[in-house]
Amino acid sequence: MEEILGDTRFFDLLLGFDRQIAEAAQAGRCPKCGAALHWGSWERKARGGSVGLEPRHRRRFSLCCAKDGCRKRETPGSLRFLGRKVYFGAMVVLISAMQSGLNPARMARLKALVGVSRRTVLRWRDWWHTVFVMSPFWRAHRGLAPLASTTDLPASLLKSFAGTSLQRLILLLRFLVPITSGRGILQAI
Ligand SMILES: [Zn+2]
Repeated sequence: MEEILGDTRFFDLLLGFDRQIAEAAQAGRCPKCGAALHWGSWERKARGGSVGLEPRHRRRFSLCCAKDGCRKRETPGSLRFLGRKVYFGAMVVLISAMQSGLNPARMARLKALVGVSRRTVLRWRDWWHTVFVMSPFWRAHRGLAPLASTTDLPASLLKSFAGTSLQRLILLLRFLVPITSGRGILQAI
């Protein structure tokens, strides 16, 4: 499954979804004052993608109210960026899901492939088991994934979606969009 992280086409796909979400948000109005929204995207220093990634893959779509004196920033949800985490969300999901298989050899391979340390992986797992599990988002939506066990997240959540490994990962990333920005955002790890 970690091969997905090395595939630029996967990141193209996620970029396409993010663009759709952002364009829909841009077509709306500022939630604070009702003025139009202008683009104010920026490039993130996201870690953990494939080697062929280009700056556009790291562009965080964002919007800014056009009205002087308001200028409220609106950052739409994303399938690529999970809140403020420095690694791509897909990495946080996939690597956290490999709980049982985290033997030293596999860990060394992951470190070589995506540069993630064991300490970071342990912190991510802790995030799933505390911050995520206790979030209003999970309490409100866990009914959509009745087979997902809270003690085995995110692996059990990933398994609860249908399709190939790639399809399940994308469905899970779409499911998580509400916690990637704005008021729904979950505390950084
Ligand atoms: Zn405004």
